[in-house]
Amino acid sequence: MKQSDQVKCPVCGMRVGPHQNEIIYQQMQFAFCSEQCKARFLSHPHLYIGYPGEPAPRQRGQVELKRRRLALRQPLSVEGAALVQELLSGLMGVNEATASGETIEVTYDLLQVSLEELEQALTEAGTRLGGDWVERLRRALIHESEETEIEAREATPPHHYLP
Ligand SMILES: [Zn+2]
Repeated sequence: MKQSDQVKCPVCGMRVGPHQNEIIYQQMQFAFCSEQCKARFLSHPHLYIGYPGEPAPRQRGQVELKRRRLALRQPLSVEGAALVQELLSGLMGVNEATASGETIEVTYDLLQVSLEELEQALTEAGTRLGGDWVERLRRALIHESEETEIEAREATPPHHYLP
């Protein structure tokens, strides 16, 4: 494919083919690098496209880094820690993930990664570790007011905007 045919994934900025994971939203066409970015866009579109005359945080080049520190009741084995680290690092938008003993730390861009995606990665790790690990890892991921936090960052519609 010619470089000039490519468009930007509105969530992560990666260059993609114009029809990759394509959707039509408010008569505009968008292509996404991955199902993850597409789901992220559809759950909070105005983080990425804004309103007429009102750019979205992503369009202003904003990155919202968030750091979460998860405390486990039982320590992970060395292999378990490596697996958790690998699965979290594999998510697009995760800057850094470390796991050792009873602590998991993950730094990620709130505009690219949702709590559900972190939870899915931890569930996957727990499933592969067996025993009670699914439950232990999920319990460690405290559900705080993150979604509220992120909604407050969406572009606000100007008064003349009628959907
Ligand atoms: Zn993307």
